[in-house]
Amino acid sequence: MIDPFGRAITYLRVSVTDRCDLRCVYCMAEDMHFLPKAQLLTLEELERLCSAFIRLGTTKIRLTGGEPLVRRGVMSLVQGLGSRLGQGLDELTMTTNGTQLAKYATHLRDAGIRRINVSLDTLDPASFTLMTRWGRIEPVLEGIFAAKAAGLAVKINTVALKGTNEDEFDRMLAWCGEHGFDLCLIETMPLGEVGGSGDRLDQYLRLDLVRQRIAAKWHLEDVPLTTGGPARYARIGETGRLIGFITPMTHNFCDGCNRVRVTCTGTMFMCLGQEDSADLRAPLRSGESDGAVEQAILQAIDRKPKGHDFVIDRQHRRPALARHMNLTGG
Ligand code: SAM
Repeated sequence: MIDPFGRAITYLRVSVTDRCDLRCVYCMAEDMHFLPKAQLLTLEELERLCSAFIRLGTTKIRLTGGEPLVRRGVMSLVQGLGSRLGQGLDELTMTTNGTQLAKYATHLRDAGIRRINVSLDTLDPASFTLMTRWGRIEPVLEGIFAAKAAGLAVKINTVALKGTNEDEFDRMLAWCGEHGFDLCLIETMPLGEVGGSGDRLDQYLRLDLVRQRIAAKWHLEDVPLTTGGPARYARIGETGRLIGFITPMTHNFCDGCNRVRVTCTGTMFMCLGQEDSADLRAPLRSGESDGAVEQAILQAIDRKPKGHDFVIDRQHRRPALARHMNLTGG
């Protein structure tokens, strides 16, 4: 799959559910309404859809959400896709909030997953509860250590929020170093209304400034890394671990974009930051062969835009898109 800008699209991110057991303040409103079950693709349909992508050249799939591990029976999808590893699919991975990880870590490893991203914005139990609106940090930490014990490589994803966790990055770097995790900091993106003042400018923290502050205390050596993702990485001399910076706002990373997204309703988004989408559910359910699905995917790839144009400043305090991250899959 080659898009109009010559980019090879080899990476699929699948949001297996829009539901989540947390309500992170930058991600969702407190009173989120979730999709009725009838609109969701079944896990079998999601697997068929992923298979079509694999036939068309997708080599990496990330399961995300919502919270992927709260979807009932999700392990059948993980196992089904895991069985495709080495047969077109090179890597299967997951982004999770970790609340259910203690239960699933060894099963994920057994299914062929080798690396996972766990979202954790703070190490402070009280801040964790505030940032997730009601979550408890203990099961998440338990899950992270269960993943490590199961032999999964863990990357911690941390959304950088002004006045909330910006004083914690040194502590998190030290903690990640101690336990052998990489850390990736993410700029908050203006996706969906999140309640409260709804003012993204209040939350937004530029990572170029954060990087300067970190570099004043830690020895950072840039590494040209290779995951094909939007993060730029540096190695921390003191711990040997990586720190990544995902900077959709201060540094547009779309030139090397290799990915598309599919939601739990079978809607394909060619760009996280644009509205254009393609319905894959109708061809999937049309009763025709999966050729119709493949054709719909290829037509959508032909419409992949050059990039997003997120802006947060005094003129752009409201969300750029109505869609929340939990639907598209972060
Ligand atoms: N529930 C899983 C988790 O917590 O990792 C997967 C889905 S979550 C939407 C994926 C990632 O998106 C998380 O790291 C989350 O912090 C991040 N995220 C959510 N809303 C965001 C926003 N508006 N800007 C930047 N990152 C966001």
